[in-house]
This record gives sequence, structure tokens and C-alpha cells, in this order.
Amino acid sequence: RPPPSDDIRDVRESLPISRYRDEIIQTIKDPRIPVVIVSAATGSGKTTQIPQFVYEAGIASASKRVACTQPRRVAAMSVAMRVDKEAHATNPGLPKLVSGYTIRFEDHTSDDTAIQFLTDGMLIRQMLSDPRLSSFSVLMIDEAHERTLQTDILFAMVKQLLLARNDPASPWYDPFTVVISSATLERLKFRDFFRMKLGDTTFEPPILEVPGRRFPVSIYYSVDPVRGYVPAAVLTILQVHFTQGPGDILVFLTGQEEIEDAQRQLREQHDTAVRNGLECAEEEMAEIIIVPLYASLPRAQQMDVFAPTPRHARKIVLSTNIAETSLTIDNIVYVVDSGYVKMKDFDEDTGAEALQIVPISKASAEQRAGRAGRVAPGHCFRLYTADAFKRELPESTKPEIQRTKLDSPLLMLKSIGIDNPFGTDLDFLDCPAPEQVRLAAGGLLTLGALQVSAVDTAAVMRRTMVTEMGKLVAQLPMEPAMGVALYAGQQHGCLREMLSVVAMLSADWDPFFKPRTKQGQREAATAHEGFVSQEGDHLTLLSLFNAWSSVPDAQRDQWCHDNFVHARAMQRAADIRVQLMNMLGSAEPVSCALGDGTIPAEPVLRALCQGFFMNTASYVGGPYRLVRPPLDVRVHPSSKFARPPPGGKMPGFVLFHQVVKTRCVYIKTVSKIEKAWVEDLLQRYGKIALDMM
Ligand code: ADP
Ligand code: MG
Repeated sequence: RPPPSDDIRDVRESLPISRYRDEIIQTIKDPRIPVVIVSAATGSGKTTQIPQFVYEAGIASASKRVACTQPRRVAAMSVAMRVDKEAHATNPGLPKLVSGYTIRFEDHTSDDTAIQFLTDGMLIRQMLSDPRLSSFSVLMIDEAHERTLQTDILFAMVKQLLLARNDPASPWYDPFTVVISSATLERLKFRDFFRMKLGDTTFEPPILEVPGRRFPVSIYYSVDPVRGYVPAAVLTILQVHFTQGPGDILVFLTGQEEIEDAQRQLREQHDTAVRNGLECAEEEMAEIIIVPLYASLPRAQQMDVFAPTPRHARKIVLSTNIAETSLTIDNIVYVVDSGYVKMKDFDEDTGAEALQIVPISKASAEQRAGRAGRVAPGHCFRLYTADAFKRELPESTKPEIQRTKLDSPLLMLKSIGIDNPFGTDLDFLDCPAPEQVRLAAGGLLTLGALQVSAVDTAAVMRRTMVTEMGKLVAQLPMEPAMGVALYAGQQHGCLREMLSVVAMLSADWDPFFKPRTKQGQREAATAHEGFVSQEGDHLTLLSLFNAWSSVPDAQRDQWCHDNFVHARAMQRAADIRVQLMNMLGSAEPVSCALGDGTIPAEPVLRALCQGFFMNTASYVGGPYRLVRPPLDVRVHPSSKFARPPPGGKMPGFVLFHQVVKTRCVYIKTVSKIEKAWVEDLLQRYGKIALDMM
């Protein structure tokens, strides 16, 4: 191996994909090849290099960009910034932001941007305003093997678009090329999917295999089943650190909380061990550097992951699934794999979609292990038994399209004129179950985003059309229920308030900071009390947002610190709110605030009910019972209603934002409502569901 170089041009040259540059460019330029599949191991340079090759070859420009989609926001941001840096290092004369990114609620591109990284969801949204994607000459669908809902939809839409834009006889003729990049197995499936008739010939996408360097990785299983994988991970990390030779450690956990927890335990136990005189086998490994990596990590910290590890130090990266294939961290020699991932899934018990911690697939386990073998022979420690690997891990993960709610894509696709998207009008890699589609259509009909056209009430599924309101809601980058709630805010005279509530919910970030110490927790609880609304958590979010907004900019950080509030969560909500205002084009949103500034709860909660009528539950003494399916659930400890109010009783009927399933099923972000507010909607839903049987 050549010695590592800090010069970016050398680093670029040394990536496995660089030897294939000419071949890749020739293939993309070939007008007979509209789709090419590039298959290479993670870390080969697919994401960072291919878009640059395209740009450097003059196939993309600011007016005909190369787009590269990512399933994850963090990856889109991180990679865009990396590529911008590389591009300028290679050619200092380039305009600023020659490589930019677009993610939900955030656009970091300019008129000079020629290389655009964006989440696959944002590329789909782009089709709302530019159905031919005419501003792009090359689309790279990256991380296709992840099979997210959005990636699968993109596949379907791009196939349709190819037939239109690449057929000389079509009025849309304006050829473009699709590059599909995948780290793993599914390349044959992708090839079959894009085998199609173009003109009078049958086209089949070529597969470009880029051999990567790979070192062998030794796998170690735990002998006995592990009770808690966080402490087990911490123990394993320390064992590796104190007994093994140089090389950084990558640890796979499932989410921010777990990672913060592990970080704390690791720090404490490491320091205790050192105090007790424990030393590393290798003297030079005196220091540990712990870097967390998860989606909502602040941008600056995200970049820490890529900082080269100083000599005498060992870097320990505590990561979510992001590091499985989306981001490559150099110099990893050891991998610690919890065997779990946090995933959105239809829950069999609740019938709702919930974030759950589930076992990874065998394919994922192999990917994770592979991360250890990029620079030298590696070691992977699996925190599960060999038997569990064999018996409990599924071969591969079911594609998201088969385990998720489809109301949002159904509304979006219908609103761009694809009448029966999950039926006859689009071709998918894997089709969703008819039941999923019915559920989505039923939900949208009840919300009023779809309506049954008068012609044929019997075959509801095939005869729905998007309402005026549905068209507006489809424009908003959020689930339809949320969009409808926002729209209802206008009608209930509380758009100003709803914008804040929706922004806080969309930020998807618990704004209340929880200190670790008992003393700190008491202080935080006292500070938070001032924001708590008697009506419940939605209004609490609103009063927090209003309080924060009334503080002058310069004092906000201090204010957040004093009130145990996450400053970044608030700023994010405020940013989202501005974006939403722009989208709605509403200069002065109506407000329901009374003369003295107080905000009545009813209009706000009623507006929320218009969208989230299905997310309701009634009190059955002890637990709450969901209206549908009739399952008993508890109120999440973070909610005001986790305990009965002192001297008071629990609200009889509640609206909630989310179902969370850990050891038991919880409802999260809970507010008190009147059953009468949702009864009509529930009845209507029941009737529509019946009609569709
Ligand atoms: P692939 O897409 O094939 O998995 P990438 O293009 O993501 O590969 O990565 C190629 C190389 O670029 C890797 O060595 C990776 O570590 C490096 N790299 C990617 N992003 C950054 C970054 N933000 N900072 C430093 N190096 C990076
Ligand atoms: Mg990549």
C-alpha cells in the first residue's frame, strides 16, 4: 500500500474506483446506455468520485446538474461538503458550492451548483415542480441496496421517465443517464428491473464491477447470549483497547440515546481502569478519542469522525447504521456489532408504524464486519451468539415499501397525475401489499385529501381523485396527516399556532434537556414546569416555542441553558417554521391568541384532530386503549400524562403523536381532547374502510 497522503488529489487517485474512471465516463456518454449499474465495495469511492468524474468530463454543469441521491440526510450533507472540498482542491478556480446538497427543510445549493447531493425523497419532490427532471443530465441513485421507500419509488418513476426522455420519438426527448450504485448483492435484481424495450431493441443495463481491496476479517461471537448490548459493547471496546494493537474501533448501536449512554459509560470505565493502573498492550495507544455519529448530530461534530486519528491515540466511533454503508470512516480495524438497528416498522400488535429496535439481517451483519477490513486484516466482535446469527437474523431486510404507511407517496404520486401508482400505472422492484394501499387510500379519503369520483363509487380504489386540499397538502414535505392539520389550522383561525406546533413536531427532537445528576434533574424539572400546559404535550411544545421566540436572538443560548432546553432543537424548529411559512405563502398567519396573549387550547387541538384522528385513545383505568386497533398502551414517561396529575384524574380521551415500542408499547406526545371532536371522522373512516372491502 502507498503511504497515506494528506494531499486530496493523491487520496482521490488511490481510491479503487479511480482506475475505472474512463470506463465509467465512456459508458455514461454512450447514448445507447441509459442505465448503468456500478457495483463496488463500500469505501471504493462511488459516492464521492462518480459525480466528480461526470462533472469533470463536462457531462454536467450548473444548468444540467448531476444529482446523487442518498437515503440519509447526514450522508447527503457530509458527502456534499467533502466533494466540494475535493473539487476545489483539484481545481481551485471553481465557484463556491459547486457541490451542494438539498435535504428536507434545507437547501444548500446555488446557481453555480453542478453536483447536487439530495435525499431520494427530495428528488421525488423535485418532480412535483419539474416532472421531467429537466435540470439534470445524470442521476445517480446511490445506496440503492438500502431499498428505502423513497429509493424504490424513485426507481419506479425514473424507469417511466427514461422511456419518455430517452426515446427519440417522444416529445420529451432529452436523454439522460441513470447510474445505480450498490455495495452489495441486489445488482442482478436492479438489472432485471431496468431490462426494457427502448425503440425496437431490448436494453439491459451493464454492470460495472469494481474490485475493491479487502482484507480478511476474523469474526468472534459471544459465547452466551448478551443481556444488555450497551454494557457489553463498552466492555468489548475496553478489552480491545487494552489488549489489541493499533487501529480504530467502530461500534454499531441503534440511536442517539444509546450512543450517549455508551459514551458516558466508556469514559467512566476507561478512566477507572487507567486509575487502577491498567495499561494498553501497546504503549503508544495512551489516549482514547470517542466520537459519536448519528443523524441529528450537529454538523461540526459530524466532521470530527473524519479527522485523522493522531498518533498515540485510538479513535472509537459510536455510530448508528449510518456507518454501515453510507459513510466510510478510514482506519477502522475493529468492529463491535450490537446486532440491532432502529427501524420504522409496521407493528403487528398495534397495526401502527413505530420506530423499533430490531435484529439486523445477515446481509447487514456482513456489511458491518466488512468495515473492519479496509486498511488491514480486521476483527469483528458480534455481541450475539453464532447460533443467534444462524437462527434469529433474517437473510435480508424486507424492503421498506412493504412495511410502511403509503399515504404520503400515494397522495404525491396521484397529485402528479399517476392515477393508480401501486396498481397498473407504475412498475416497482417489489410491490406493496394491496392491504397497505387500501389503508392508505382509506386514510386519505377520510382526511379529505382524496375524494371518490362520482362515476364509480363501488370500485373506490380505482376511482379516487385528489381534492384541492389534497393538492396543497401534497406540496408540503410532511406526512399528509400533518399537512391536513396545518391546513385545518387556517380554518380554525390558529394557523400561527399550528405552524409552531407542526414545526416543533417536525423537528423531531425532544427539546427538553435531561441532566444526568439527580440535582440537575430537579433543577430541570422546575425550569420545565413553567412551560407545561394542562391540556398536554402539544400545547406544551407551543408554549415553549412561544417563550423561546420572545427572547432576543443574542440571549437565546443563555436562555436555553438556564431553562434546560436544547438550543439546536429550538433553532431547527424555527427554521422549519420559516420554510413552512414560505411554502404556504402566508405573510400574516391567523392567530387565535386572546387579547392578553393567552392561547386557547381548543382550536389548536381541534385542528390537530383533523389530521391525527386515528391517533386517539381512551382511558380504561390504568392503560389507554387505542381506538384502532383496540390495544392497551401506556403513556410515555416523557409526557405530562405519564402520571395522574396531583389530585386530578387522567383525561378520558387523548390524541397522541407517535407510538413507540420498547419493552412495552407507549404513546408519546399526548394531549387531552374531546371524543366528540373525532367521532365524525372515525365513523367516516369506518364507512370508507367497509366500502373498500
Ligand atoms: P463509497 O461510496 O464507495 O462507499 P465514498 O466515496 O463514500 O465510498 O468514500 C471514498 C473515500 O472518501 C473513503 O476513503 C472515505 O473515507 C473518504 N471520505 C468520504 N467522506 C469524507 C469526509 N467527509 N472527510 C474525509 N474523507 C471522506
Ligand atoms: Mg457511498
